[in-house]
Amino acid sequence: MIPFLSFAKMNADIKAEILPNIDQFIDKEWYVLGEQVKHFENEYASYCTTQYCSGVANGLDAIIIALKALNIGKGDEVIVPSNTYIATWLAVSFVGAKPIPVEPRLATYNINPDLIEAAITPQTKAIIPVHLYGQCCEMDAIMQIAKKHSLYVIEDNAQSQGATFNGKVTGSFGHINATSFYPGKNLGAFGDAGAITTNDKELWTKTNTIRNYGSQKKYYNDLRGMNSRLDELQAGLLSIKLKHLNHWNQQRNQIAEQYLTELKNVGDIILPGIAQGATSVFHLFVIRTEKRDALQQYLTENGVGTLIHYPVPPHLQKAYADLNLKQGDFPIAEEIAGTCLSLPMYPGLKKEEIYYIASTIQAFFRHA
Ligand SMILES: *Cc1c(COP(=O)(O)O)cnc(C)c1O
Repeated sequence: MIPFLSFAKMNADIKAEILPNIDQFIDKEWYVLGEQVKHFENEYASYCTTQYCSGVANGLDAIIIALKALNIGKGDEVIVPSNTYIATWLAVSFVGAKPIPVEPRLATYNINPDLIEAAITPQTKAIIPVHLYGQCCEMDAIMQIAKKHSLYVIEDNAQSQGATFNGKVTGSFGHINATSFYPGKNLGAFGDAGAITTNDKELWTKTNTIRNYGSQKKYYNDLRGMNSRLDELQAGLLSIKLKHLNHWNQQRNQIAEQYLTELKNVGDIILPGIAQGATSVFHLFVIRTEKRDALQQYLTENGVGTLIHYPVPPHLQKAYADLNLKQGDFPIAEEIAGTCLSLPMYPGLKKEEIYYIASTIQAFFRHA
């Protein structure tokens, strides 16, 4: 049995470092927003080549707080990808603004910069590019459009810590950027966690205030904030894992290379493409095929775990029924939802296992 995701290898890499950290954490008797959080914020900011970082409770909150810090809310429009995890849309809705979907490129799954300008209106305040499945968006084009129209850019970097565009790392392009350390992300905590990165000191002060009840000084509240604090334990563990991130991302790239070689010209499979100038940290390895459901079932029967990211695009979710969007409105997102399949992808996945997965897929198409 090859599971879709396993933490076993990553946990083994860090277990010896983690246990003393947990001991220290208990003895310190300071559990939320303390020294470890500050330490991790500095390390993560420097990993992203930004000046500032605010640790928060999760990735959804990170996007919400970034939007709030920019005063985006009711009456505003925010451009989002039509193909993304729903969190991107939900954050925009949560602050009272309207998500305006823009289709991705079919080759890369990331938002198509050529389609962004047509979606801009006088109400547009920001663009949220999502570096989906591990690949950095075409950030030069996106930043140019934002500049031309005086829009903010908020990167949703939940899936792509460490990916680059023209050598510049994700989390450093936008005015303010959000990420998630949900356990399954490339840099995952042992529970929920997230962060915001920026080079703008004022925005940073604001995000630090919003995440902690709108308060900078205990019991004095400047803003109507929220409780979205990062705890010391997660921050300490994230500091340890951050040191391994580049190495783990390299392993993901090696796995991707093997898949790309062994699945070339197999059936009608479409392999993931990388845009000129971009790199991917392969959060997911997403293939497409017209026979997706049958292939997924065949892989399950043969002991290979897979998932679909994502089966229903946000515009067709019940949660967005009030937007009155229908099947056919965003055909590229719908095409991806109908044909995509994510294969196992994680540090520790062995060469033989990838070989087995690829040969099982080949066998499926021989009989299909
Ligand atoms: C995981 C994810 C989020 C949300 O992160 P949480 O920590 O689960 O709240 C946001 N956007 C994308 C693209 C994600 O993959």
